[in-house]
Order: sequence, then C-alpha cells, then structure tokens
Amino acid sequence: MADITRIIPRWIAPVIPRETVLENHALVIKGKKILDLLPAVEAEKRYPDSHPVRLENHLLIPGLVNSHGHAAMSLLRGYADDYDLMTWLTDHIWPAEAKLVEDAFVYSGARLSAAEMLSGGTTCAADSYFFPESTARAFLEVGLRSQITAPIIHFSNSWANNEQNHIDKTRAFINWSDQQELITAGFAPHAPYSVSNSGFAQILDYAADTNAPIHLHLHESAGEIQDHLSNHGCRPLARINELGLLSPRLQLVHMTQLTPEEVSLIAAEGVQIAHCPQSNMKLGSGICPITTLAAKGLNISVGTDGAASNNDLDMLQELRSAALLAKVSENNPCAVDAFTALEMGTINGARFLGLEQTIGSLEAGKSADLTAINFNDFSSQPVYHPISQLIYTATAQHVTHTWVNGKLLYDNQQFNYLDTKQVRADIQQWQRTIKALK
Ligand SMILES: [Zn+2]
Repeated sequence: MADITRIIPRWIAPVIPRETVLENHALVIKGKKILDLLPAVEAEKRYPDSHPVRLENHLLIPGLVNSHGHAAMSLLRGYADDYDLMTWLTDHIWPAEAKLVEDAFVYSGARLSAAEMLSGGTTCAADSYFFPESTARAFLEVGLRSQITAPIIHFSNSWANNEQNHIDKTRAFINWSDQQELITAGFAPHAPYSVSNSGFAQILDYAADTNAPIHLHLHESAGEIQDHLSNHGCRPLARINELGLLSPRLQLVHMTQLTPEEVSLIAAEGVQIAHCPQSNMKLGSGICPITTLAAKGLNISVGTDGAASNNDLDMLQELRSAALLAKVSENNPCAVDAFTALEMGTINGARFLGLEQTIGSLEAGKSADLTAINFNDFSSQPVYHPISQLIYTATAQHVTHTWVNGKLLYDNQQFNYLDTKQVRADIQQWQRTIKALK
C-alpha cells in the first residue's frame, strides 16, 4: 500500500454533507483519488502500510475553486489603481497590454498567478486571457487544475487580428485541450460591448458541438448598461437572451446590475454565476445580489478576477469579502454564513465549471484536490468553530499544504516541484520592463 497516503488533520470539513466538521478522522488517498474518509483509528487498521501525514493544528478542506481570473495580469498588479472600470481599461490596462502581451508575458504572469493561487489553497482556477496555450503551459508546470477559456473580442491584438481569428484560434485551443487531464477549455466572448451578433452566434454553435463552456463578463457596471442602451437600444442581458445564449452551461461573471425581471429570467434559465466581490468593490462597479440569486436556485461561485483589479488571488479573503459584502448590502448579519461562503469557494465553484463529479467536496471516488490550513498562530487562536475561523480569520498565508489530483504540490509552505528562485527573477525582469512603459 505504498501509494496510499493517510492524512490525519485536527479537523476535516468535507463540504458534503453540509456543515459537517469531523474530528479524529483520516482522509485516505490512493493515486489521484480519495479512497476513504473514516475515523483515524479505523484508518490505521484498515490501511496499516499507508504513509501517514499528521497535521495536528490543521483544517483539511476540498481545494478552493477560483471561478474567474486573468492570470497573466498579475504582472500588472498595482499598475493602475483607483479608477472606474472603463477608465481603468481604456486609459491604462488596454494600452499597457497592447505593448506587452505576447507568449512570454502570458506565461510569466500565469506562472506567478498559479504559484500564488496554489500556495493560497486554490487548486482549480478558471482563466480567460490571450495566448491561452501559454497560460496552459504555466498552469501545467505548477500543477494547477483549470478551465482555460480564450477571449473573443472584435479588435485586433497581438494574439488575433479580428473576431473570426479569435474564434478560430479558440477552437484550435479547445481541440488541443482534449488531451489534457487537468484542463477544460471553452469560449470567453469578452463582453456584449466587444463581440458582434454573428460572433456570438458562431460561438453558440461551436460550444454546442464541443460541449464547451461559454464564459462571459456581463452587467459588470452601470456604465456598460448605459453604453449598450445607446448602441443597441437594449440592456446587454436582453441581447444575450435574444441570441439564445442563456443556458446552464453559460458562465456569467459579475452581474452587479440586475432588475427583478432579469433575476427571474436568469433563474428560469439556470445560468452559472461568478461573483467577484473585491474587483467589483475596487472598481466601484456595484454589488451582485447573490442572496437573491441563490434564493431563486442559482449556483453562486466566487472568483478573484485578475490581480490588476483586486489586487491578490487570495480566495479565503475573497470568500470573506463575499460574506461581508452580502451582510452590509442587505443589512443582515445572517446573509452568507461561513459555511455558505465555503460552499461558494468549493462545490459551487466545481458546479460552475461542470466538475462537481470530480472535485469540490471530500468524498470517496473524487479527485484528491485538497487544502490544509494551519490554525496554530496567535491570530487563529482559540478555535471554537473551524469553518468560521477559516472564513473570518484565515488568509492565504495560513495555507500550508495543497494537493492536486493526489499530488502534494505545496508541502508545509514549500513548493515541491517549482523553482521559486527562477520565478522571482523572471518577475523582477518583467517589473523593470513594465515600469519603463510609464
Ligand atoms: Zn474579468
């Protein structure tokens, strides 16, 4: 039983069943999968030759799922702060991207992000950016599981020179990803203001053929709604509905501007929601009404968005922000309790990606994507309710171990397979290049 590992943490929160915290239990993994979850004493008897990993002050949870991001943009962390969405994009981010974006930039930024996420307990991330094959290369090198969608936008850039070219390149990337165990791929039409009706129609056809997800920024800010009303005579969601895109496979990101009729419409269609509270707060975009949407049966996941508008990829802090923002916006301290926040960061993220049979909870047969958080330091003591402690106290810095697909990638706060010196040197080089642009 040499390939069997028996993890014995202080607490285990399997997420399914709901609100459960187990003590004196062990999680047993064999190869890539969770084999068993049982009392520690029984585990020792049943798997006597297994390799024990004792985590005496730790909570073990399913690996966190970050449902929206742009990993390459970590190289622009702190590059342009304190602007509204359109000023931030048009005056700062897009001009910088026009000068910078190429294979090496995307690879370096994505590798930095993957390392940050893995060391912060995120084991699966949804990403959208140009040169998706470079993001894939970086994520595979670090060992992260992912959904990588290529952006489709009607203007020319260094990756593709028109909308059709973006669509064709995305199709090629989706074909390539078929061979990759840890990657699912799909389409990311950037937003209704940057994709044509014929572009959307093609994407819908191809997505149906390949069962690929469609990942879309929608109703991010009031300005987006106003501009769309001026240019198209309707709100963006009305056009997306008219084009036939609404379905349970459609992944909608942000959704901060919703009328009651729009809430009913998306609830009836069962779309997926990625809530990005910190990015929405920082860009002053608005608040996604997640409690209302969840009450209508919609699945709410949480994403950090890119580090240029957050400015970190710390999913524990993001989940705390989701809980706190719901409480203050609804004037209700019971809105989004700690366990609900944990669900949003695990099983709901898995559902968002269509991976709920594979990840998102600690159940026998699922992939061993796991995160351990140490509650030994002064800021985490004493511990009455481990899940509350996780959501309201812990940050990425408390994460000590992460496994993806049964492989221990981050081990007592050290990367087992990543040359961190080389990553740091690479980032320093990019910082010099990017600073020279200003
Ligand atoms: Zn985004």
